[in-house]
Amino acid sequence: MQRAASTATSQRNVAKRAQVGRSGARAPHQADQRVKGMRKCLGTPGVDIADSIYILQDMNNTKPIQNYQQKIATLKDQLLQLDRMRPGSLSRQYNVCGKPGCHCKDPQKPKRHGPYYQLNYVFRGKKKSQFVRAADVAAVRAELANFKKFRRLTDQWVGLALQRADWELKSKA
Ligand SMILES: [Zn+2]
Repeated sequence: MQRAASTATSQRNVAKRAQVGRSGARAPHQADQRVKGMRKCLGTPGVDIADSIYILQDMNNTKPIQNYQQKIATLKDQLLQLDRMRPGSLSRQYNVCGKPGCHCKDPQKPKRHGPYYQLNYVFRGKKKSQFVRAADVAAVRAELANFKKFRRLTDQWVGLALQRADWELKSKA
C-alpha cells in the first residue's frame, strides 16, 4: 500500500517538474539550477526528492541501519584513498602584449601569446587567482579532480547520515 502511495506521489512530482520545465521555458537554466539546488540539499547527486522518499521507504523493509552503515563505511574507505587535492578551476588564456610589431597584433593573422593557465578558487571566503606553468597543468588537474571527488563523497555521506538519523527518529516514534 505504501509503495503504491509513493509511486503516485512520485508521478505527481514528475508531472510538476514537467510543468516547471514548460513554464520556465524562457529561463531553462534557472529551472535547472533549482533542481540542482534541491539535489544539493539532499546531498545525493542525481537523486531528487521523489526518489529519496522511495529510498527511505525501501529501506524500511530490511535492516536499514546496517544498510546505511555499510554505505557510509564504503564512502569512508574511498575518502581515505584521497591524498592531493585543491579546490578551484583552471582556465586557459591567450594574451596580447604591448611590444610594437609583435605577431600578437598582426593585422592579417594575429597570433596571441599563450596558452596561459590560470587557477581560480575560493578558500575560507577569499578569492584567489594564480598562474600555473604548462608543465604543472596535468598535476593540478588531478588535484582539482580529487577535490571534486572529496566533495561528492562527503556530500553523499551527509545525505546518508541524514537519512539514517531521520529513520532513527521515525522508528522511535
Ligand atoms: Zn605580443
